[in-house]
Amino acid sequence: MPVLRCSSCGYAYDYREPIWKCNQCGGLLDLEMDSVFTMEMIDRVVPGLWRYHRALPVPLSKAVTFDEGMTPLTAFPVNDRAVYLKHDHLFQTGSYKDRGASVLVSYLQTLGIRRVVEDSSGNAGCAIAAYCAKANITCEIFVPEKTAPAKLSQLKMYGALLRKIPGTREETASAARMAAKGTYYASHSWNAFFFQGTKTFAYEVWEQLGGRAPDVLVLPVGNGTLLLGAYIGFSELLFSGAIPKLPRLIGVQSTACNPLERMFQHPHEEPDSTTWQETIAEGIAIARPVRARQILRALKDSQGSIVSVSDEEVKATLLKLGKMGLCIEPTGAVAMAALDQAVNFSSKRETIIIALTGHGLKAAEKLDQITLR
Ligand SMILES: *Cc1c(COP(=O)(O)O)cnc(C)c1O
Ligand SMILES: [Zn+2]
Repeated sequence: MPVLRCSSCGYAYDYREPIWKCNQCGGLLDLEMDSVFTMEMIDRVVPGLWRYHRALPVPLSKAVTFDEGMTPLTAFPVNDRAVYLKHDHLFQTGSYKDRGASVLVSYLQTLGIRRVVEDSSGNAGCAIAAYCAKANITCEIFVPEKTAPAKLSQLKMYGALLRKIPGTREETASAARMAAKGTYYASHSWNAFFFQGTKTFAYEVWEQLGGRAPDVLVLPVGNGTLLLGAYIGFSELLFSGAIPKLPRLIGVQSTACNPLERMFQHPHEEPDSTTWQETIAEGIAIARPVRARQILRALKDSQGSIVSVSDEEVKATLLKLGKMGLCIEPTGAVAMAALDQAVNFSSKRETIIIALTGHGLKAAEKLDQITLR
């Protein structure tokens, strides 16, 4: 049986308890699976990420799914490096957050939970709202007032109860936590089951490379839902002996909001909200990531690193992607904007994966600012 374990005090809970943080100390919970993942466990007749259901905490028969996942991995060779782009903007709601939402909402449905609260800069909210709509669960989504109009339209289409909160992303999060007191907090940053969904990113990359891990994996990082998910997935593959070592994880932040980069360089510093400035990559502008310590541990453990990119670099990258036929939202392109830094961090013939994480149609007005000169 999987166990929910507190990362602060170590207390263990039955994974069917409807809790999102430790009852003893308020700490973050992680899910410990009892299965060891192997190639033979893949259910190849299932098209998307639920092909890995034997390594997920919900049975396939209970999956709330649009057959999402198995996003394309395409070659983009650069300077003697085998670079691949992972097209994680190609999901039902336009971002990789569907990975986490599919597994989390499936789990909530097995518990019989009928109402949830979530907060988001947009994409996580859209993903939770879409899967809740499919599962007929009521959801209340808190977003910062300045959230991109397309994401708000999307949330309304899914029938979410929309709460627009003035101020910073932090203020939105605390409003949601207050509202969650009476219901269930389906938070993508707190909830351990969301990371069970995002870990399938690692399985897919590994399967698509023919049962190999890349040498370097470049991912955007704000709250770390994709980075920690990938770390969990590759750690499971390492533990089962499917791969000999972890890929080096490179987290990419915005220079306008880079608390994790600062903590990586100065390990004794706590994240502080003064690191927050406006950026075109609004989806990763998280001043105080709740899982900061875990993210830093994942970077160190994988012998990886963390870098940041400026808005100017992101804009240039968006135009370059557009000329390749790829319309990506600014936050979804930061890993690509860090390509040169990733190449410098690697050696000849190494394999590098760059994650594209959100569709450009979500941020049309931002793309207009770049193209309408
Ligand atoms: C959520 C999101 C990210 C970053 O995710 P974190 O969990 O904050 O690290 C990156 N790109 C897009 C498009 C996103 O929606
Ligand atoms: Zn605890």
